[in-house]
This record gives sequence, C-alpha cells and structure tokens, in this order.
Amino acid sequence: MHLPPLRNFAAFFWNMDIKENLNRIKASLPQGVKLVAVSKTHPVEMLQEAYDAGQRIFGENKVQEMTAKSQVLPRDIEWHFIGHVQSNKIKMMAPYVSVIQGVDTYDKLVEIDRQAARNSRHITCFLQLHIASEDTKFGFSPDECSAMLEQGDWKNLKNITIGGVMGMATNTDDLAQVRREFGRLKEIFDTYKQNYFAGSADFNTISAGMSGDYELAIEAGSNMVRIGSAIFGERNYNLNK
Ligand SMILES: *Cc1c(COP(=O)(O)O)cnc(C)c1O
Repeated sequence: MHLPPLRNFAAFFWNMDIKENLNRIKASLPQGVKLVAVSKTHPVEMLQEAYDAGQRIFGENKVQEMTAKSQVLPRDIEWHFIGHVQSNKIKMMAPYVSVIQGVDTYDKLVEIDRQAARNSRHITCFLQLHIASEDTKFGFSPDECSAMLEQGDWKNLKNITIGGVMGMATNTDDLAQVRREFGRLKEIFDTYKQNYFAGSADFNTISAGMSGDYELAIEAGSNMVRIGSAIFGERNYNLNK
C-alpha cells in the first residue's frame, strides 16, 4: 500500500461537517487569500452544502464532471478548472467557466480566447508553472513561459485575461523543499508582474497550496489556495468511475 507523505495526514483528521471545515479553514486564512473549494469526485449534494455555508468558488479537474455539476448547481458559482487542460475540451467549459488555472501552452491560450469569443465571454487564465521536482506534474518551465510572455502575441488575445500563476509543490515531507518551490513561484510572479504586467491590475493571483501545504504556500506569498480533502474528506476515485 502506498502511503501519502506525512504532511498529507492532516487531511485524514477531517470532520464530516463541511460547514465546520470551511469555517475553520476560512478563519485561518489571512485577509486577501481566496479559497477555492476543490470538489472533484464529490457529489453535488456536498457542493450544495458548501454553497449553503457561503462558499462560491469551486475547483474541478475534469471538464465533463464540472460541466454536469455546473448545470444543476446555483448560477452564481465561480467555476475554476484546475486540471490539465486538453484543447478539445475547452469548448465544453467556455460557456460558463470563470478561471482556467492550468494553462501550460500558448496554443491553449489561443484556443481559450477563440472559445470565449464564440460565447461572447471573457475567461481568466492562470499560467501553470512547473515548480516541483516530479516530472509527472504539468506546467510551463519558467523559461518557456518567460519566452512566451516576451514574444508578446498574447497581448492580441482580447477575450482572455492572464490573471496570475498557478503551481504545485513536490509531494514530499521535505518542508524546506516545499518552501523553496513556493518561493520560486512567488519570484516568478514578481518578475512577470514587473516585466509584463506592470500597468495592469488584472495580473494579481498566485494560486498555490492544497490541504497538506497551504500554510507554507501562504507564507511564501500565495493569495489563492485550492483545498479539497480538508473540506470534503478523502476522495474515493473508484466510486466515481
Ligand atoms: C485535487 C487538487 C487540489 C486539492 O487537493 P487536496 O489535497 O485535496 O486539498 C488542489 N489543486 C489541484 C490542482 C488538484 O488537482
């Protein structure tokens, strides 16, 4: 059996009361840090419970699942797509998604812009940066991303806004490494802000931190955390296949 690293054990001590979990987490977040409730794999009843407790931002990582949920839940939910973006699925979420967090190529920005325009909408995109040492995580390398921003064609995409960066730290018990990776994301954000978005208020978000490491992410400068298991409990992927 594969055990998660120790820093994820906090998630095992979750309480079944979604409202209580949300309130406890919200109370622990400094002012200005937004909470994305990561509801992937969980049934709409559980999302509704979080909604009734005041939560409005939800994160999902499968387009079909997010779309099905968006159709039955209240219209004022802000849906964030936090999974790996596949170009052919952008069309399905373009009518309603607020933020697409995992953008990792220029071509995907172009396709999101095209689909947003077809729906007369504006979609916020975060640039996903590969900051972890694991190869399994997606994202631009910092060099690729800088080259894309430097090249400048993205400025012609009128139906998207680049709203910030997103990253995931390595899944490890080495807290110094996790801190270093989140620190790197903050440095990259600051550099981009200065070099490419100096005059813009839109580029303002560092999305980093999950149930097991969000305190470290906030210390490093994150202002949007994506928390799943500490709110909704452990996920059972098999039940949802
Ligand atoms: C699942 C997921 C999360 C939430 O993870 P928890 O450990 O359950 O808080 C955050 N970000 C991304 C990109 C995810 O896929």
